[in-house]
Amino acid sequence: MSLSGEQRRRVADLTRELYEILGNSVHSDGRPMTFSELEDECIEVGDLLTAAVLQQRVAERSIREEASCCPGCGQECTPLGEDEARVLQTDRGEVAWMESAYQCSRCRRNFFPSDGRIGPGSGRHSEPAGGGENGLLGSVCR
Ligand SMILES: [Zn+2]
Repeated sequence: MSLSGEQRRRVADLTRELYEILGNSVHSDGRPMTFSELEDECIEVGDLLTAAVLQQRVAERSIREEASCCPGCGQECTPLGEDEARVLQTDRGEVAWMESAYQCSRCRRNFFPSDGRIGPGSGRHSEPAGGGENGLLGSVCR
């Protein structure tokens, strides 16, 4: 983690808000919630937050480039023009965003330049449809 002290303090402020949203640790009939019930609720909130913030952040990346290298043959390719919906199943839920697809005339395939930027090497996510292999991002096309 690379959060600054100020960022951590602000996140801590959010926990007070979440506590108010969730309420106290007692069922409506007065029975105290078990640790497991409390944990499940907190995990649900955490997952919702993570997916929502991740979705905003991934959507605002500026990955539109004039040209991008084909992950198959390395040829320089241009964007198709219209953004396509991307959906990624993360550990914390589904995340969706719009992104520009590129087409390789040599390989007759479409790809997203960001495919090589999603969790490189982590192997924790299923790949979005239409992509898969790591691109040659940041390098000069072959
Ligand atoms: Zn190609």
